[in-house]
Amino acid sequence: MVIARQNISVLLVDDDTDMRRSIVSYLEDMNFTVYQASGGRQGIEIFETHHPDLVFTDLMMPGVDGLEVVREITQKSPETPVVVISGNGSVNYAIEAVRLGAWDYITKPILDFSIIDRITGQVLDRAHALKAERAYQESLKNAVLSQDRQLTKISSLDPLTKLPLKKRIREKFSQYILNNAFTGDLFVMLLELDNFKSVNEKFGHECGDQMVIDLAERMRALVKPDCTIGRIGSDQFVVMVANSGDVLKHVSTVRGLFDEPFVVMGQEVYARFTMGIAFFPQDGEGIDSLLHCADIARTSARNMGINQHCFYSHELWEQVQGRIALESGLRKGLERNEFMIYYQPKMDAHCRRMVGMEALIRWKPSGDDRLVSPAAFIPVLETIGLISEVGAWVLKTACKQFVDWRKRGMAPVRLSVNISAIQFHSGNLTEVVKDVLDSTGMEPEMLCLELTESIVVKDIDETITTLNALAELGIKFSIDDFGIGYSSLSYLKDMPINELKIDRSFVMNLPGDAASVAIVESVLGMSQGMKITVVAEGVETEEQADFLTSRGCNELQGYLFSKPLSAEDFFRWCHGKEYCGGHRKQNITCNWDVGKAIKHDRESQSIIA
Ligand code: C2E
Ligand code: MG
Ligand code: MG
Repeated sequence: MVIARQNISVLLVDDDTDMRRSIVSYLEDMNFTVYQASGGRQGIEIFETHHPDLVFTDLMMPGVDGLEVVREITQKSPETPVVVISGNGSVNYAIEAVRLGAWDYITKPILDFSIIDRITGQVLDRAHALKAERAYQESLKNAVLSQDRQLTKISSLDPLTKLPLKKRIREKFSQYILNNAFTGDLFVMLLELDNFKSVNEKFGHECGDQMVIDLAERMRALVKPDCTIGRIGSDQFVVMVANSGDVLKHVSTVRGLFDEPFVVMGQEVYARFTMGIAFFPQDGEGIDSLLHCADIARTSARNMGINQHCFYSHELWEQVQGRIALESGLRKGLERNEFMIYYQPKMDAHCRRMVGMEALIRWKPSGDDRLVSPAAFIPVLETIGLISEVGAWVLKTACKQFVDWRKRGMAPVRLSVNISAIQFHSGNLTEVVKDVLDSTGMEPEMLCLELTESIVVKDIDETITTLNALAELGIKFSIDDFGIGYSSLSYLKDMPINELKIDRSFVMNLPGDAASVAIVESVLGMSQGMKITVVAEGVETEEQADFLTSRGCNELQGYLFSKPLSAEDFFRWCHGKEYCGGHRKQNITCNWDVGKAIKHDRESQSIIA
């Protein structure tokens, strides 16, 4: 390697004036810029001022000696070569200097000055290589650092929308809080796309992704120094606003993002959302607790309907705690057999004979005298995944009871059992029903499964297959709560439906309310043509019963005849008078061969209390 020597400076430290002169003149002849010092201290000072490229130093010097010069210079500047010039007999001293960091040594007397030339060339080459290596390492380190920074940035951004992820939101939250300009106002809005799953299912994941990207694009317009947005779940977004007390303005801006439809595969789709809002610091002092509170509020907003928002409150928190307690109580209830079945009779509208009964589940938590209504716990059983287990238990227990009553003389009436949507679509309902029929000896044609409209309109093909498989066994089907859902009979024509139950909300306003009258009459009219039995549920008055009967309703169910009763009370109701409530009770026929019941009881030696 050729180095332009005039650009190279050399420091020579030697207390021997003659020797110093000779070496200096030799170095100058070689075109180096030379600094000289007559002692160690001066040498170190010149080094600090001029930063020469190479240092020659004598070892034996009074005061600060050569070893000290080596130590100081190599410590300050490890890439500057220091070569020691050692006197006769002091090789060990020179070796010690090398151990301290000297690059090489020359021994005196210097008989051939060309050694200086050679050593200079060698150490300068090494210094150059070392510097190049250092620069390379440095650039490598910088590249890794910037890569790292890039990666950190990427890993805190959502790959699909490039919106900040939770990690970044957390950092931003800390920045707001620690900023001197922070007024103390901060709130988070947690948004969830309600129909994201259905868009994915209907149009495919790419379209779902596109909708999310488009929404993120709309949301970017909100970004300001005091407003941060992010995506924290596949269908969940966050808007965090600091230094603004005007939450309603922000809520309305965010709602506005959903005013225009999204175009998915050429079709316009309106995104639906629910939003929960939580405030710092009263709802949560950290971003995680704020998001948790916003999520509780969001769940409550979902119960309010579509495109709703809700603010977090302590009452909501209590509701959640109540729900957690209910969940755990239900699990324990299942282990401790705390569930039981009540039965409510269904009457023929004209002759008022009992033509069937509906099995209705009840829960009696231990240590509690109250019976919990299924309306309160069926949805919870559905969300915690226990509904199929409990539903199968209801089916089996009710069928067993029914078979027992049949043996005791009950006429061939119908047993209706409610089936939840999750249970129906669980994929093994047919097997469960077959098992129950086999194990209980239940007559299939007397079993009627009550389904809601929402069950049968979901996955229509799958529904028809299940219904047909069960219908082949002889099972009957009823559409429960008819009128509050889709209220269309068109989807029923391909399904083996035998019965419709008019929802109680229409029956209760009969015959005074014109709208209820119109709905009831239209349901009765439609079903007559389709040979479907119509049952009115929630019949409480004679007036309602008479009106329904006069319009052609086939069966009636309600408190007018009996409330749902425990198995024992139901049996008594069928045979006695004391549970028959209402002035028409004498006219009610329970379709029961009482003599047979007594005979059966005698035979089986079981006394009914
Ligand atoms: P549903 O199947 O429509 O049952 C009728 C509900 O109306 C019952 O409430 C019954 O007690 C009540 N009812 C009957 N007649 C009258 C009346 O004249 N006036 C009034 N005010 N109410 C009357 P319940 O037993 O609380 O059941 C509520 C709902 O819970 C049921 O509605 C059904 O959807 C569900 N459910 C009950 N048992 C089961 C079950 O074993 N499995 C499933 N999946 N759901 C069940
Ligand atoms: Mg029902
Ligand atoms: Mg109903």
